[in-house]
Amino acid sequence: MASPATVILEVAVPVPLRRTFDFLLMADGDMSAIEVPAVGTRVLVPFGGRKLVGLIVAIKEYSDLPRNKLKPVFETLDTEPVFDAHLLQLIRWMAGYYLAPIGEVTDLAMPQLLRQGRELTPVAEKQWRLSDHGRSSAIEELHRAPLQLAIVKRFMKAQVLRAVDFKQQSGGWRQAVAALLEKGWLNEDILVPELIAGGPVAEKQIELNAEQAGAVDHIRPVIQHPQFVSNLLHGVTGSGKTEVYIALMREVLATGRQCLLLVPEIGLTPQLITRVQEQLICPLAVMHSALTPGERHLAWWHARSGAARVVIGTRSAVFAPLPELGMIVVDEEHDGSFKQQDGVRYHARDVAVYRAKMLGIPILLGSATPSLESYQHAISGRYQRLALRERATRAQLPEVDLLDLNQLPLSDGLSPPLIEAISNTLAQSQQVMLYLNRRGFAPVMMCADCRHTLSCHRCDSHLTYHQRINRLRCHHCGYEAKAPEHCQACDNGALVEVGEGTQRVEQALQQRFPDARVLRIDRDSTRRRGELQELLEQASSGAADILLGTQLLSKGHDFPAVALVGVLNADQGLYSTDFRASEHLFQQLVQVAGRAGRRAQAGRVLIQTRFPEHPFFDWVKQHDFAGFAEHLLAQRQAHQFPPFGYFAILRAESTHQAKALQFLRHAKSSIPTHTGLSVLDPVPAPMERRAGRYRAQLLLTASRRSILHSCAAAWLDHMAEDAAMRKLAGAVRWSLDVDPLDLY
Ligand code: ADP
Ligand code: ZN
Repeated sequence: MASPATVILEVAVPVPLRRTFDFLLMADGDMSAIEVPAVGTRVLVPFGGRKLVGLIVAIKEYSDLPRNKLKPVFETLDTEPVFDAHLLQLIRWMAGYYLAPIGEVTDLAMPQLLRQGRELTPVAEKQWRLSDHGRSSAIEELHRAPLQLAIVKRFMKAQVLRAVDFKQQSGGWRQAVAALLEKGWLNEDILVPELIAGGPVAEKQIELNAEQAGAVDHIRPVIQHPQFVSNLLHGVTGSGKTEVYIALMREVLATGRQCLLLVPEIGLTPQLITRVQEQLICPLAVMHSALTPGERHLAWWHARSGAARVVIGTRSAVFAPLPELGMIVVDEEHDGSFKQQDGVRYHARDVAVYRAKMLGIPILLGSATPSLESYQHAISGRYQRLALRERATRAQLPEVDLLDLNQLPLSDGLSPPLIEAISNTLAQSQQVMLYLNRRGFAPVMMCADCRHTLSCHRCDSHLTYHQRINRLRCHHCGYEAKAPEHCQACDNGALVEVGEGTQRVEQALQQRFPDARVLRIDRDSTRRRGELQELLEQASSGAADILLGTQLLSKGHDFPAVALVGVLNADQGLYSTDFRASEHLFQQLVQVAGRAGRRAQAGRVLIQTRFPEHPFFDWVKQHDFAGFAEHLLAQRQAHQFPPFGYFAILRAESTHQAKALQFLRHAKSSIPTHTGLSVLDPVPAPMERRAGRYRAQLLLTASRRSILHSCAAAWLDHMAEDAAMRKLAGAVRWSLDVDPLDLY
């Protein structure tokens, strides 16, 4: 290897530029004591007058720049690489695939504390308690140290506190705690972090039914003799997919390898963790967005050291360092939360498939309503398709009926037949679940006289009325204001609520069914950390009679007693401008309907709609995913839409309406032309103004992925060089989204 004096470090630096930067190891002086760091090591580098944490992606002897132009790094931060060669390869691939700056991808793959330059090895967390001395002393003794006094008062209420609990406290709390420790008022515990391991119970094993066993048998050979195979487990709701994952993970663990289970954000419930834990007695790490930076670092560390044999996590857990990874499972693979919607817009499922391929291990994608991308791969044979057609509990899939809103009056969003069905279900002491994907009390406030409606002054959107707090809120930008007493346009009329959100329906249900316990689950009722879990537990334990909620309620949860599911409005999405809208609506309806009748009693689903004749509902009523998917795929193929054509969207936004479009027009004219590529005209986004910014977009479609990538990459390179283009780009916020999920 080259000597330290001649070595050039190629470093990924977290800046929005699609390139790496070269540095020297040291300026001059005695090199004999210096060791050349390994690829994958972090270094602190000088960058535009700042110090940034970069990652060495290559070590080389030559640079395009002359040596005297290269700067030395300040410091090498690690004695061993943060990432192994596989993860580095994954990072490189992602930067190429998503046309993203490699420094932003390396940042994404690192826990926050490592991005900030902290030590690779996690430091144990500390917690503090009031000591006996502290408890028996008079707090007046602290009157000259007000911060210490305030902190001691907090300890009197809180028993134990950790660093995270002081986030709101002004600076200086650390010194105050140190002083209190010194005086003997507080005791300190060092928390020895432990992995979740299976409990002392005997390993519980459910006997798989024939379909489940068939799926396991099918995959077993590629676990025994690892090989990349992508499997799509298409199982109806309640068919026992989770049991299949667990059985397969058990086999992987038996071969001495680690497993990664990716789940959607709201699918990662304590119930799921308990289920896995009870059946796989092994150290397990959990990774999700609610962890503190310290907890996250620790989970990452346990995965990397091999101490954790199973990692369960949400989107970014796809980067978990797992030196002995033997299989990846992606549950609810169709779920939109796997796609990151800002920064590097990656899709964790697709990254997971690439990772499995690179490692030569199997991957299993599970869903009751697979994404059309995965489903098409199963049809074409690129993925192996495994089907679970029956519910594991032998319950029948529910009967689905439509309620024609053209014929039926609505009161507070409920039609008479739905009210009757609710009443009957409650009379039989069974649970009802109502689905309405709109929170708040009313989505629109209108003047009874002049018919003026209240809109957000920063968005092209109505303000939602929240009755309990008597405030108007914009659900797009967070703007909030007190609801006015009367119309400000005509200065006279009374304001009336138009349409209904979950709060209005909740109120109506309470009035109509005073003896029933109504549980509302939406973003407003679950703002506190842990609140969603509490409500979901109440829901599944039968502590409520009517569950009312948005999408939060619909996904993956097991509510054993629900016998009736009502969908209050299924029409958003039937006639939408977004080409994926009906796919998403179908997924939602199947998920919601899937909550009904999961045990002995047969369930029933009632859907209120203004379009009962729409063929869409035939597939819904028949639970015919295959028929619906074939229809959609034929449409997509005819228009060369994904998964048959490849999309990228260039988005721009600006406080000046013209600037976003101007940037995109210039972009369109400078994107290289190619027979396989079409670049549409720039258009305003469907909701043009949001949070005071005008948004516009440019769609690129290509017949082959390679064309899309090479043209978009060439254009990005051009933009980095071209001064006029850079100037336009500097005036807007822009982003490029490869494989966009939504066309806005
Ligand atoms: P899915 O993930 O496909 O919706 P789950 O794995 O949650 O389904 O299973 C639904 C219910 O069926 C769970 O309560 C589970 O314990 C039960 N179950 C799954 N497999 C079996 C089986 N082979 N025998 C009995 N019950 C099962
Ligand atoms: Zn707004």
